[in-house]
Amino acid sequence: MSPQMPYEVSEGVYALGSELVNWYLVEEGGRLLAIDAGLPGFAKSLDRDLQSLGFKREQLAALVLTHSDADHTGIAPHLRKSGVDVLIHEQDADTLRRPRAKGGDASPIHILPQLANPRLWALIVRFARDGAGRPRGVEPTRTFSSGEALELPGRPRAIHTPGHTAGHCAILCEGRSALFVGDALCTYNVLSGRRGPQLMPRQMNESNAQSLASLAMIEGVTAQLVLPGHGEPFRGAPSEAVAQARAR
Ligand SMILES: [Zn+2]
Repeated sequence: MSPQMPYEVSEGVYALGSELVNWYLVEEGGRLLAIDAGLPGFAKSLDRDLQSLGFKREQLAALVLTHSDADHTGIAPHLRKSGVDVLIHEQDADTLRRPRAKGGDASPIHILPQLANPRLWALIVRFARDGAGRPRGVEPTRTFSSGEALELPGRPRAIHTPGHTAGHCAILCEGRSALFVGDALCTYNVLSGRRGPQLMPRQMNESNAQSLASLAMIEGVTAQLVLPGHGEPFRGAPSEAVAQARAR
């Protein structure tokens, strides 16, 4: 069982959200970097969550998004309004501004065979309750490109891992030995309930083949923690997580 959210995963790294959707904080020198922004409904518990970790909202300096999907950008408009910088890869900036249905393997039609799956319906209900059904666009403060080291708390560096979306990135915070992989891989399959490192369900990746190929981009990264958008942290090297994901 995972600890109750929010909690400290390792020194200076915090997991927030729900059992279905994660977002993270990295602390450096008293300032906080958010990685992803969960679902819109998470705004309701934001102050309480920060307080329980010993933080204040004023410490939040920036939000780096792994990609523009609605379950990762939820409180981004809220944070942007309160003065937090919002950053995203240049290729996902437009879908962040104007949320819309995904294409390719993730076209809505590909979810049809899943309509008999009760987990899908539970997911839709849970996400709707937290406001994911009506994502609001947000204008990023700035965009970044692959490999760019960002002058933010935790000194994050983006690693382009396209497939789930075109501009999807994993975010490496070297000082915390933590790799935030967004939906490049997950450790909990929200459609099958299966646990352990694996690709996201095929129907959620714009290009499943590209998602598989992008695992090579994070395979060689040195880190002790792999933190996905869905599922528990993987305590081990990205190479191990990637090997397990490929074996599925
Ligand atoms: Zn996701």
